[in-house]
Amino acid sequence: MASAAPEQERSVIRARRPIVAIDGPSGVGKSTLSKLLARELGFVNLDTGAMYRAVALAASRRGVDPEDDVALGRLAAGIVIDFVRNAGGERVLLDGEDVSAAIRTPEISLLTSKVSACAAVREALVRRQRELCARGGFVLEGRDIGTVVFPDAEIKFFLVASPEERGRRRFLELQAKGTPVDLARTIAEVEARDQADSRRSHSPLRQADDAVAIDTTAMGIEQVLAAMLALVRKRYPGDGEE
Ligand code: C5P
Repeated sequence: MASAAPEQERSVIRARRPIVAIDGPSGVGKSTLSKLLARELGFVNLDTGAMYRAVALAASRRGVDPEDDVALGRLAAGIVIDFVRNAGGERVLLDGEDVSAAIRTPEISLLTSKVSACAAVREALVRRQRELCARGGFVLEGRDIGTVVFPDAEIKFFLVASPEERGRRRFLELQAKGTPVDLARTIAEVEARDQADSRRSHSPLRQADDAVAIDTTAMGIEQVLAAMLALVRKRYPGDGEE
């Protein structure tokens, strides 16, 4: 016979699975670590940077002025960004088109920093990120996850590394994809993007007060992953072990 669950029990039934927030500047290893951590925990990862990149690509293709906040906001609210998994790994779709490679060029990276400073763009994307992850069991990576998107996230990491090391990692990544790159220029671009992301007035990149900071400069990916996993499992012994 069904009976109304006591209030306390009902709130336990409704409780969402944990949210893990990973924030930090570019080149600290957020994307790789977010994917690996999600896999270990049986969670889903969400690359929020890819969403801002998709808006920048759409703006560039449609000739939208990156200074025109109204047009950018309308654009961000009107496009459809999806993530799918196929033989080529996780792919990013913009209005149904696979734009995974097109959003990762150095030009789009710089344009993304400009576009992401627009409050209306952030509003549209943050709303979508909250909808997508409402049931929990997500690892989200970005710049404002622990401060704005999910300030109540159960676990927050803030990854840092020296600008030279981050530039070197981005350089190797682009080189591996066959993009012609220059090391000094890549380091300068990474630094320019950090400055823009940290100084903007809406949701600047900053460490949440309750985030755990990890300096990855001299650490390998496996080492950082182990440190993150140890912390998650200490706080949530049940998650990821089913
Ligand atoms: O993480 P990724 O380097 O792909 O992000 C590209 C850009 O998107 C960042 O430089 C930043 O300007 C913007 N971004 C943001 N907020 C996020 C994720 C990314 O402003 N949550």
